[in-house]
Amino acid sequence: MKSTLKIKATIKQSIWFIPFIASLLSGCITGLDASYLSGQTATKKTEFMLSFDDGPMPDTTDRVLDILATLKATDGNPVKAGFFLLADAPDEFWQRRVYYAPYELWTDKGSIAKYPKVARRIKQAGHTIGNHTTHHSWFRWPWLDTEESVLSEITEWEAIAKPTLGPLNKRLFRPPYFILTKNVLETTRRLGYQIVMGESVGDATPGMTVDEIKEKTQSILAAWSKPYPCVLTFHDNRPATYEHLDEIVSNLQQQGFRLVHFDSERL
Ligand SMILES: [Zn+2]
Repeated sequence: MKSTLKIKATIKQSIWFIPFIASLLSGCITGLDASYLSGQTATKKTEFMLSFDDGPMPDTTDRVLDILATLKATDGNPVKAGFFLLADAPDEFWQRRVYYAPYELWTDKGSIAKYPKVARRIKQAGHTIGNHTTHHSWFRWPWLDTEESVLSEITEWEAIAKPTLGPLNKRLFRPPYFILTKNVLETTRRLGYQIVMGESVGDATPGMTVDEIKEKTQSILAAWSKPYPCVLTFHDNRPATYEHLDEIVSNLQQQGFRLVHFDSERL
């Protein structure tokens, strides 16, 4: 009786083996079988894309572009990124109080109107350009979260960007601070924009060190479970990014994460 139970238990424990035996007998071990056998090592590592917000800025955006030219995607070519640009971010403190979130009134941000050469360089390098509003609007301000204001933030951007960049093949929009209100959703949908969100790497957080950004990006990718590549969001006006982008990205590649070109159609 005891030995019968033992045999039953052994059969039960061995049931997982049956599909493997069956595949051997049928003469085909599929890719699925192979990964099943080798466990974690055969698991495809997460793909990630790079995106940069708040440019174009003289010097800092140029430095980011120089670094990108040295980073290779999985196909061996210099990686292409997504740049979500501002058409004309305010310089004056009182103007920033109208548009920016209250906690970043001292931050310099980009402008296609003021730095058209930098904006053109982004396009000529083959990167994708998207709309990040004209003034970096914090849509939590009640005077900005209206249909008229959202519409003008987006269409004024187009009016400023077009003479500098020519027509863009894609209408991509990233809301500043990732704030999606009903007005933002409805207006972008009506204008035919694809909204591209992303994962903040933390370079805009005061006091965040490069090592902390490395750790943060690593854990974002390790936890990524969506069926499309993870879009990391950097800022080309932050020193951690324009000075250490190569180090941050190489660290991820060394962990086995796969750098791919920015491609909104995969999102
Ligand atoms: Zn931004």
